[in-house]
Amino acid sequence: MAHPTPPPGNGHPAQLLTLATLAGGKKNIPSPGAFTPETGWLQGALESLERQTRMGSFLWHIPTNMVDLTPQSLRLFGLPPQYRQVPFSQYLSQVYLPDQARVLDTIHQVIASKVPLKLVHRIVMPGGAIKTILLRGEVALDHQGKTLGLSGIIQDAEEWLRTEGKLKLWEKAFQSCKEGILVTDARSIILDVNTAFLWITGYTREEALGKNPSFMKSGLHDKDFYRRMWQSIQTHDGWSGEIWDRKKNGEVFPKWINIQAIRDITGEVSNYIAVFSDLSKAREAEKQLMFLSQFDQLTKLPNRALFMERLRDAIRRVGDSQKMAAVLAVDLDDFKEVTEVMGHDTGDAVLMEAAKRVQAVVGDKGLVSRPGGDEFLVLLEDGVTVDSATGLAQKVIGELSRPVFLGGRDIQMGASAGIGMFPFDGEDESSLLSHADAALAQAKREGGGVFRLYAPELMNRVTQRKEQVALLRRALANQEFELHYQPKLDLKSKGITGMEVLVRWNNPEFGLIGPDQFIPLAEETGLIMPLGEWILSTACAQVESWRQGGMGSLRVAVNMSSRQFETLDPTDIVRRVLRETALPPEALELELTESVVMSNAKRNVATMNGFRRMGIHLSMDDFGTGYSSLSYLKKFPLNSLKIDKSFVTDIDSNPDDLAIAETIIAIGHTLNLKVVAEGVEKQEQLELLESKGCDSVQGYLVSHPLPPERFETWMADMNGKGWRVK
Ligand code: C2E
Ligand code: MG
Ligand code: MG
Repeated sequence: MAHPTPPPGNGHPAQLLTLATLAGGKKNIPSPGAFTPETGWLQGALESLERQTRMGSFLWHIPTNMVDLTPQSLRLFGLPPQYRQVPFSQYLSQVYLPDQARVLDTIHQVIASKVPLKLVHRIVMPGGAIKTILLRGEVALDHQGKTLGLSGIIQDAEEWLRTEGKLKLWEKAFQSCKEGILVTDARSIILDVNTAFLWITGYTREEALGKNPSFMKSGLHDKDFYRRMWQSIQTHDGWSGEIWDRKKNGEVFPKWINIQAIRDITGEVSNYIAVFSDLSKAREAEKQLMFLSQFDQLTKLPNRALFMERLRDAIRRVGDSQKMAAVLAVDLDDFKEVTEVMGHDTGDAVLMEAAKRVQAVVGDKGLVSRPGGDEFLVLLEDGVTVDSATGLAQKVIGELSRPVFLGGRDIQMGASAGIGMFPFDGEDESSLLSHADAALAQAKREGGGVFRLYAPELMNRVTQRKEQVALLRRALANQEFELHYQPKLDLKSKGITGMEVLVRWNNPEFGLIGPDQFIPLAEETGLIMPLGEWILSTACAQVESWRQGGMGSLRVAVNMSSRQFETLDPTDIVRRVLRETALPPEALELELTESVVMSNAKRNVATMNGFRRMGIHLSMDDFGTGYSSLSYLKKFPLNSLKIDKSFVTDIDSNPDDLAIAETIIAIGHTLNLKVVAEGVEKQEQLELLESKGCDSVQGYLVSHPLPPERFETWMADMNGKGWRVK
């Protein structure tokens, strides 16, 4: 039979051709898949099977050294049907030369030790192309157990490698995936888990396989949660979300999980695959990052970024509700010297202590932040008023002025503050903050230890004069004014002898506004007349009711402005009020400023004498700031002098102020007047004044001005402090 194909192999065509012809040329090979009675039905079925599985068979018969190849094997080798039986050498000659030695080696080994054959090698196709094939097989034995040869199957290795390789790749991906993976069957029974699953959950493979994934349930989700999850898997073939599960060690942890339903060709769910990542580390890192980006490392207080965010929120909230917010910028005085002299560690310790103190003062009334350096920021909202903001600033400064005991010694600190009020001092967070900083700078310029408002003339900034007057009128009609009472402490008897009444304007829009901001306008417009009368009668009625209620024989001091004093006969009004309220005249004191009295000294002396005749006490307020001369002072029928608080503030540090206070006390006593010091905030100030013979003190040290109800409770608490109502 002629050979239609060119000779295959590695360059021995002549030999091959002859051998092949000898071997395979004799028989008539049926065409593939032919089911004929001659070949037998089984033969046909086997050939069909080979074609479908693309696997051919071989048998190498050692005694004859011939290799039988089936039609599928021949197709793989690219040989025509007549090569179905070839000598082994023919086979070998088609093996790609570089693989030959290895092929022989492997075959020898298989025969010698009877291990299964698995061999991948390349062959040269008749056209010269190279193909890789896979042989699998075993040693064939005769009935006596003697080695007959080798038999097995041949297939295209590339195809095999493709599927095998893919599987290996998937296996590798499955195992090396950082996410935990679990595969279940359609009934949710776990079939396989990967290594990450084991790391994350702490379970072993054996513990997980065969179980329902619900064995890891944390109990944190209700039935409804799982019902919704399954509903989504059923309708969308998938679900992803956060689930809290339990690890083997009991720890409950959040994981992000993606569950997919896998359907087979019939459309039925065959498997579920769940891929999840442990969120706890990410959460931890997120928290850490959040902390680092929002908090100061030293004091653990919010940093500038977080403060600004909160301030922005507060402005939005407060803006909507037409209320106020305040920003306090606080700065330690002379902190640089502390670090320069005592080092950074001491500096840090001082800052931590300062942070603690500011935090303690502010409490839950606001947010304290440390933007850096020796600065602190405080945000106040929730009904803050100018008054409460300044009160708090004062307290913060007071706390920061107490020495810090460190390393066996006291470190004297001090602080200044600037206040910016929303909406007056800025409509957005950055302008508000920069104005609070500007106010702080002003406080520092004034020597530190004090607070400053950015815009003390709040009213002037808000509205035009015409509107201000209208506002004030409405305030009077709407009874928006309220009175606060500040006690006076007698230093000899350590008893409360009376109180000063101080007016506030509780404006629904701006909050509590201090008298400095509306009394001048009220005076200019004449509104002080009705306002002053309301103050006088309200205070007199209040104090009379306290006296009747057993609070003691207290004297109430009412401030009188020049306009009130200069009306035709101010004594008339006072007399009427006293009659109406039943307060005895000796329980009333009128505070007049130097400028009031001096403006028309002659006439005013007459008016004052009228008051004195009625039994009313008179005192000179803010003494030392005006221009009273001793000769005039002698003519005024006064009962007492009030040392202005500007001399009291620095009395313990400024010798000039101490000298002035001492002189005022001496003058007062020479003229037989009682001397009262106002603005006393510290114990040291009180002690100095006491040692100089001052009669009474008034100031934050004893008490802030208090609304009536709080004044009552304060008075009731007095005895515990060693002060009592006289
Ligand atoms: P004043 O009569 O000298 O009142 C004392 C001021 O010092 C008050 O301010 C009081 O709150 C404040 N003060 C009290 N203790 C301390 C302290 O320890 N430290 C500091 N830094 N300040 C302290 P306020 O209430 O803002 O009043 C300011 C001024 O407005 C008063 O000065 C008075 O001249 C005037 N005023 C207040 N109420 C009335 C009023 O009813 N009628 C009139 N005509 N004027 C009033
Ligand atoms: Mg006064
Ligand atoms: Mg005063």
